[in-house]
Amino acid sequence: MTQQLRGVGIGLGIAQGPIARMAEPLPAPDDAPSLLGVAEETARARAAVSAVARELEERGAAAGGAAQDVLEAQAMMAEDPSLETEIDDRLSQGRTAEWAVHDAFASFRETLAAMGGYLGERAADLDDVAQRVIARLRGVPAPGLPDPGHPYVLVARDLAPADTALLDLDRVLALVTSEGGPTSHTAILAREKSIVAVVGVSGAEALLDGHTVVVDAAGGAVTVDPSAEDLERAARRADARAAAASAPITPGALADGTPVPLLANLGKAEGAEEAVSLGAEGVGLFRTEFLFLSAATAPTIGQQREAYERLLAAFRGKKVVVRVLDAGADKPLAFLNDAHEENPALGLRGLRALRASEDVLREQLTALAEADAAVRASGEAADLWVMAPMVATVEETVYFTALAREYGIRTAGVMVEVPASALLADRILAHADFASIGTNDLTQYTMAADRLLGSVASFQDPWHPAVLRLVREVGAAGVALGRPVGICGEAAADPLLAVVLVGLGATSLSMAPTALADVRASLLAHTLDDARHVAEAALAADDAASARTAARAASPTHREADQ
Ligand code: PEP
Ligand code: MG
Repeated sequence: MTQQLRGVGIGLGIAQGPIARMAEPLPAPDDAPSLLGVAEETARARAAVSAVARELEERGAAAGGAAQDVLEAQAMMAEDPSLETEIDDRLSQGRTAEWAVHDAFASFRETLAAMGGYLGERAADLDDVAQRVIARLRGVPAPGLPDPGHPYVLVARDLAPADTALLDLDRVLALVTSEGGPTSHTAILAREKSIVAVVGVSGAEALLDGHTVVVDAAGGAVTVDPSAEDLERAARRADARAAAASAPITPGALADGTPVPLLANLGKAEGAEEAVSLGAEGVGLFRTEFLFLSAATAPTIGQQREAYERLLAAFRGKKVVVRVLDAGADKPLAFLNDAHEENPALGLRGLRALRASEDVLREQLTALAEADAAVRASGEAADLWVMAPMVATVEETVYFTALAREYGIRTAGVMVEVPASALLADRILAHADFASIGTNDLTQYTMAADRLLGSVASFQDPWHPAVLRLVREVGAAGVALGRPVGICGEAAADPLLAVVLVGLGATSLSMAPTALADVRASLLAHTLDDARHVAEAALAADDAASARTAARAASPTHREADQ
């Protein structure tokens, strides 16, 4: 019988196929005393850890891209000196290498998990490294990908980066995991490789090899043993998506010609080429903190200038919106967030953290102004806009925009991620040159639901009419004051929600470059009047699910597709 499971969809794809499950992890070793002695066990443990670290590096080099960064980080974690000390402590008590590795990694994992945020999500990576080391010690193959001999939907507890890097994209039709949130490695790599994925699916543990599923990332759903009609509808949507991907790249616009520039969210300049090839008309969000996540001390002006120069040079003649460091909560930076906070999402983060270390902010603005000048001196300039994250008050807006202008930044704006600033958007936009709505945090704060926590993921839905009403406030203020209002949260990557956002007054949309084709196609199928009508329908709903349904019913294209 057909059954539907829910999770967090990554991207917008849809795929169908038979399940093949990932092999279960190795059983934990017994805590039996070693028969070999401390010296021999130590030598075995060291050799196994270093062999696994080398293997991870080799896999990384073969995979390239984001996978390489992830696997190199894992190799470094495996050889972390404090982890080695933990292993040695256990070996010196006469334990086997297998048990010492298992127990030391588990304790290190707990420490990381307790840190929460980005590092907490990395904790799962340690399990994979430990399994690989123990498998090597036992002389058995490491748990890995299945090979059923035909294309399949891969179902796993969570995917280790080492496995994701090796996914054969001709064979793996989609990914379903029972664990992992929207920022897990499975999610990050699925996004990068455009693999259809739904993560954090409760009930996925019970899925059986060979059963057919439809994996619908846009709807965050996995349909088990689908009906013939379900399969047909999924195939139609997959075809429509493939057609959108191969449509000619044109500037973002509605069906009536209203321009809606489509921009890229980037974390490093290296992504520029791909973004341009996918049709990005500029950058709507450059997350500068991604450049310095592992830095212990503040980056120098020179280091920053170099990174910004590369970015601006890649987008000569185009708009580039750079966000100053957004440190704290899910993205802690050691040099800005040193105090322990019980609720870091509500703490000294974003602009608040920068203000507490104003020299860091001043240095960043200096580096941005210098990079802009250097690019301008060597040819056509990029149109540099700079904005501050997590702005909650008019006073913060005045502070930041005045400071940015002091450094010669011509266009200074703020991110609207806190309900307070959405509600006061008319006052805020009286001072800022533009606003950019970060729907990820705006949803988190409106719904009081931690964006990293799988257990409250159902609340983290930007379709919620409460979130949409706040977007409407900002859009209306932008129209009244003639100020641009961009969207740079994940919501902009949802093709129908993108239409709603434009209907609410958004003037540009910024997203992961892989989402551009779907959003471009969806905008082209709606006029401005349609967009306003679809937005009204969503606003009038009681909750996120009914807003989605109402918007589909009000949209000419989606109505047809649903029939
Ligand atoms: C957001 O909050 O929507 C946003 C774009 O910023 P980040 O996801 O980096 O917090
Ligand atoms: Mg944010």
